[in-house]
Amino acid sequence: RTAIVLFTRDLRVRDNPALHAAVAAADRVVPLFVADPGLRVHPHRQRFLAECLADLRESLRQRGGDLVVRRGDPVAEAVKLARQVGAFGIAASADVSVYARRRERRLTDACAAEGISLRLHPGVTIVEPGAVRPSTGGDHYKVFTPYWRAWQQVTPRERAATPRTIALPDGVTGADPLTVLGPVPAANPQAARGGEAEALRRLKSFDPSGYADQHDDLPGDATSRLSSYLHFGCVSPQAVASTVENEAFVRQLCWRDFYHQVLHSFGDLPSKAYRTGAVEDWRTDEHALDAWREGQTGIPIVDAGMRQLAAEGFMHNRARMITASYLTKQLGLDWRDGAAHFMHLLTDADVANNFGNWQWIAGTGNDTKPYRRFNPLRQAERFDPDGDYVRRYIPELAGVEGKAVHRPWLLSGGLLGTVDYAKPLIDPPQ
Ligand code: FAD
Repeated sequence: RTAIVLFTRDLRVRDNPALHAAVAAADRVVPLFVADPGLRVHPHRQRFLAECLADLRESLRQRGGDLVVRRGDPVAEAVKLARQVGAFGIAASADVSVYARRRERRLTDACAAEGISLRLHPGVTIVEPGAVRPSTGGDHYKVFTPYWRAWQQVTPRERAATPRTIALPDGVTGADPLTVLGPVPAANPQAARGGEAEALRRLKSFDPSGYADQHDDLPGDATSRLSSYLHFGCVSPQAVASTVENEAFVRQLCWRDFYHQVLHSFGDLPSKAYRTGAVEDWRTDEHALDAWREGQTGIPIVDAGMRQLAAEGFMHNRARMITASYLTKQLGLDWRDGAAHFMHLLTDADVANNFGNWQWIAGTGNDTKPYRRFNPLRQAERFDPDGDYVRRYIPELAGVEGKAVHRPWLLSGGLLGTVDYAKPLIDPPQ
């Protein structure tokens, strides 16, 4: 008996319920990844994905298996391969976005037509969407705090054992992911390296003892940097939560689950505002939007965040909040344009987390404080008090010492002449 495991965003062998189930149910297993040309991939992500796949293939090979990599429609390719190897079934991880769920429905129909069984397994989140529901009715929580309370009461699913051996059917050979994915950009020393091995190394070396107090410290960069690994499933969120037993940190993983259950119920999250009472009258200003994208707004803390994003495919959470708030609340530009730019550049770009957080910042989501507005200068003084984060990403300001770097328009004398940095687009807030 042969089964196929269709890998999507669960690129790991440890605690992978779909892989575990296929190995338990079949004598022979074909691990498959299909590169879907319908998904936009920026070089940051393309490289990370290639590294994830190379690492996954190596882990599967060490267990006697391999990774078949194809390019095309995942449904058509999975069914075609199932026919070729005479597979009785396909196992995959259940996902939440509209795109993923449409793919799951098409796969369900295609499998039914071919007489193949399809099993969708948990593992993308810690608590499955819909597993906890508000007592007041509805299929998902709209507000985080009651969700967090209910979430903490859920008994976690048992972790899936790591398969020791994976037997491939005769005649099936794997492929080098690089030949299928096409040219992969050269490694960027500033960007994270993909793969399960690297995820585990980071998880092991992450010290959460200062997390509660320091996670907002911009230059200190005291967060785990696990988001891309969680997005691509190089490590299961449950494994992360049980390794890092720190309440402030686990709460962030709960935010991740929270937005996944919102997206599962509210597929329009990327485009439609829940709330119309808050700002919805966005301005159109291509010049300002470009300046924001390029890190040229003239507000150093905003520009530093945007330049970190461009250079590393990552931005500190506090900087994401500051830059997103500046776009929407100071420049008055549409959150959807900002979210699209983040989706394009972030390695951890994630439909649930990205659009959920943008709606939170823009005040269009279900949050209870739609008129929240961050003052970027006060944020800068609080979370980058000596200006080190700004100087790291804005070389034009490298010569300005201390917190003066946050207000270059106030510089005087000779120093002002040496600074070739953008003038503020709009009057800086006080
Ligand atoms: P840590 O602080 O170490 O947190 C651990 C994990 O918890 C993260 O890896 C992440 O999976 C989860 N997490 C932390 N904060 C949040 C949050 N606010 N919402 C949901 N999950 C969270 N995160 C993404 O993974 N993908 C995105 O596309 C994304 N877009 C964002 C856009 C905006 C405007 C904002 C304000 C936040 C966004 N976030 C996104 C959430 C957060 O910024 C990142 O998850 C975090 O910065 C990643 O760094 P870390 O792994 O070091 O986080």
